[in-house]
Amino acid sequence: MFSYRHAFHAGNHADVLKHTVLIATLQYLTEKDAALTVLDTHAGAGLYRLDGDYAKTSAEAAGGILRLGAPGAATAAPLAPALQAYIDLVRAFNSSPSTKVYPGSPFIIQRLLRAHDKLKLFELHPADLRALAGNVAQLEAGRQVAVLHEDGFEGIKKFLPPPARRALVLCDPSYEIKSDYGKVLDMVADALKRFATGTYAVWYPIIPRPEAHDLPRRLKTLAQKAGKGWLHATLTVKSSKITEDAAGEVKRPGLPASGMFVVNPPHTLKAQLKDALPQMAELLGQDKHATHTLEAGS
Ligand code: SAM
Repeated sequence: MFSYRHAFHAGNHADVLKHTVLIATLQYLTEKDAALTVLDTHAGAGLYRLDGDYAKTSAEAAGGILRLGAPGAATAAPLAPALQAYIDLVRAFNSSPSTKVYPGSPFIIQRLLRAHDKLKLFELHPADLRALAGNVAQLEAGRQVAVLHEDGFEGIKKFLPPPARRALVLCDPSYEIKSDYGKVLDMVADALKRFATGTYAVWYPIIPRPEAHDLPRRLKTLAQKAGKGWLHATLTVKSSKITEDAAGEVKRPGLPASGMFVVNPPHTLKAQLKDALPQMAELLGQDKHATHTLEAGS
């Protein structure tokens, strides 16, 4: 079984990028009245405590949401609307000024849906599934939200195309198994055949591994061959170099960067990220290697 638990990573810089893109995309897709179906292929536990044991052990949120929300965390310009929308949404889950609760993708999505929209959540890890089911039950969202103990790569197939022919798929695997990279590509290729006008958002880590390096390039080829628009955003917060400290101990940098690749993105997304990404790099950057990229095509 998998060892990855998102509770260690909740609210880190990768979540800031992923969830900012997710929120901006959903805000656009919920402007039209017609019902939207959202499929979250790798849901996680749904809600995380940043003062809980997992998050405290890794302290990753300190380099992400907590850094953005900290008093004095400011850029020369006011925060970009997409970044502000992300911070506001996370704040809405917290009654005190300090951020103790972090919403994962299921809760972020549900917060933005209308009563007639649907959300399908896929999760395989038994502990995360239990936590997710318990958290979702508290929402009392009835049939709007379904928690499925299934492989998200396969499970989405039966929901495409959706009844109102409007869908967003968020694909956020942990990539702890190398085969996840190929499964992402197969899933997007298959989904585009089933439902060519859906929006497909894929998160991936930028790490020194050939599969990780190839994934965005192969997604771009897929989108181009299907004649679909695409957007690719990356955020780097530090160098990926493995170093040695004075005592000769090897220091691994942890995740230095990640990317979001969106097929059929909202036409508004590029302009929103053009403002938000430089601020993310400025506020979350840990060394001189902090940077961002943003590319889109049709
Ligand atoms: N999307 C979540 C968020 O943004 O809050 C975080 C998801 S976490 C990166 C990945 C999750 O996928 C883990 O909880 C893991 O147990 C689960 N998982 C791994 N393989 C899966 C699969 N094939 N189908 C569904 N869930 C899977």
